[in-house]
Amino acid sequence: MPVPAVRPLIAGNWKMNGLKAAASEFDAMLEGAKKVSSGIDLLVCPPATLIAAFADRLAAAHEHGAMPVAIGAQDCHTNASGAHTGDISAEMLADAGARAIIVGHSERRADHGETDAIVRTKAQAVWRAGLVAIVCVGETQGERNAGHTLDVVAGQLAGSLPDGATAVNLVVAYEPVWAIGTGMTPTAADVEEVHGFIRQTLTQRFNAEGERMRLLYGGSVKPSNASELMAVPNVNGALVGGASLKAADFLAIAAGCP
Ligand code: PEP
Repeated sequence: MPVPAVRPLIAGNWKMNGLKAAASEFDAMLEGAKKVSSGIDLLVCPPATLIAAFADRLAAAHEHGAMPVAIGAQDCHTNASGAHTGDISAEMLADAGARAIIVGHSERRADHGETDAIVRTKAQAVWRAGLVAIVCVGETQGERNAGHTLDVVAGQLAGSLPDGATAVNLVVAYEPVWAIGTGMTPTAADVEEVHGFIRQTLTQRFNAEGERMRLLYGGSVKPSNASELMAVPNVNGALVGGASLKAADFLAIAAGCP
C-alpha cells in the first residue's frame, strides 16, 4: 500500500547548550527559515531557560509573515504541578511557548533511568498540555551487533507509546544510540529497514493514523548526509543534535529535505 505524503519536520535538539546570547543564532534561523521550502516544518528545542525568550522572538517574526518554525522542549515531568523540586511540567513548557516536547531521548533514558513506562507517562503528560510528543527510540551498538535492533525498537514502541496516538499528537524519532554525537550513521539501507518496520508497527496499532505519523531519523545528521538520509522511504525528517546549534547547518539540513 503506498504511504501517503507526510509533511517533513526538521527538529533541532540543542541539549544543554545555549545561553541568552544564543538568541542571535535563533534569529539567524528565523531569517533563513523564510527561504526554506514552505512544505517543511522546523522545530527548535533549546534548553528550557531559553524557551520563553525564543517564543517572544518567534512571535515578533510572525508579525512580518507566517514562519514555518515552532519552539519545543527536551523533556518534562509527568505531573502538571506539585512538589518536584527542579522539574518542569508540560503545562509550564506550553505556557512558555513550547509546541512540542521530546520524551525518551536516549540521554534521558541513560542518565536518568527513564524506562519505557516513564516515557509513556511523559508522552501522556505532553498531550495533557495540548502539545506534540516526540518519542525517541533506538538501539545501542551492542544491541545492533547482536542483531537485536528490531526487537529493541519494537519493545520501546510498545512500551513508550500510549494508546490514542495520532499523526497530529505524535512524532517518532528513530535514533540509534551509537550514532548520536559520534559522527557515525547507519547505512541508508539500515535506516530504511528500521523505518519501514516502525511504519508497519505504527500502522498495525494505530491504523490510518500510523500511516501518516512523522518518523524522524536522528544521529549525526549534518548538511553533508542530510539529503541521502532524508530520501530514505519512511524518513519524514530529522532530529538533529550538534548540527542544530548553528543556523547555517540547521538550515542546510532543512534544504536537503526532499
Ligand atoms: C540527538 O541527540 O538527538 C542527536 C541526534 O544528536 P546528534 O545529531 O548530535 O548526533
